[in-house]
Amino acid sequence: MYSIAYNRQWCKGCGICFNVCPRKVFEVEGMDKDGYQKIRVVRAEDCSGCMLCAFLCPDMALEVDKC
Ligand code: SF4
Ligand code: SF4
Repeated sequence: MYSIAYNRQWCKGCGICFNVCPRKVFEVEGMDKDGYQKIRVVRAEDCSGCMLCAFLCPDMALEVDKC
């Protein structure tokens, strides 16, 4: 089991995590008032701990830890 810490303020909504996650843990939200498309962690229980999202996030907005 893994926990996924998502820093919404640092996220620029590039969608990389959404696209690379093999377990479809993320969903893309609609645009916020500043024009950024944020993501949402919707299936944390399916996370395999591969760390792709945390390594590839350009804004270091994701941290994955083993529970
Ligand atoms: S660590 Fe891997 S499986 Fe878990 S949310 Fe990130 S990309 Fe998806
Ligand atoms: S990769 Fe990082 S900046 Fe891009 S949508 Fe995901 S959390 Fe946001």
